[in-house]
Amino acid sequence: MNKEKQLAQQEAGVIPISGGMPRVTYYAPDGTSESLIPNYISGVDLKTKTKVTYDRNILGGLSLTPPTVLKPHCDGCQKWHNTQKEVDACIKKRKADTLKWDKKMAKQFPKEGGEMSDRMDKLEGMFEKILEKLNE
Ligand SMILES: [Zn+2]
Repeated sequence: MNKEKQLAQQEAGVIPISGGMPRVTYYAPDGTSESLIPNYISGVDLKTKTKVTYDRNILGGLSLTPPTVLKPHCDGCQKWHNTQKEVDACIKKRKADTLKWDKKMAKQFPKEGGEMSDRMDKLEGMFEKILEKLNE
């Protein structure tokens, strides 16, 4: 959900509900909220050896309460980091890893290397744009 649409809905007091499943408002560490269907899984707590139910949405980093300290979302790993610096570093590292992988693949599959690098070039372009946006 984009921020503008979300803000408009919050102002209007309307959270979209579709289907019969009850939805819960989750907050992301970057302060955005989303109405999602809880995704429960059962497991055993290794420390207490008791049966527990986890919500995959919460395991994924979402919270039921708005964050007090906002954390920037990372387009590199689709998670959140403590600082923008960490986001930049993460994206940079991923970019470097991607290039390394690209080179390795180009060596192993010389014929498909060309097409692969074209796609990587496109991805790189996208990353540049994302970085530009983040730095705005
Ligand atoms: Zn990251």
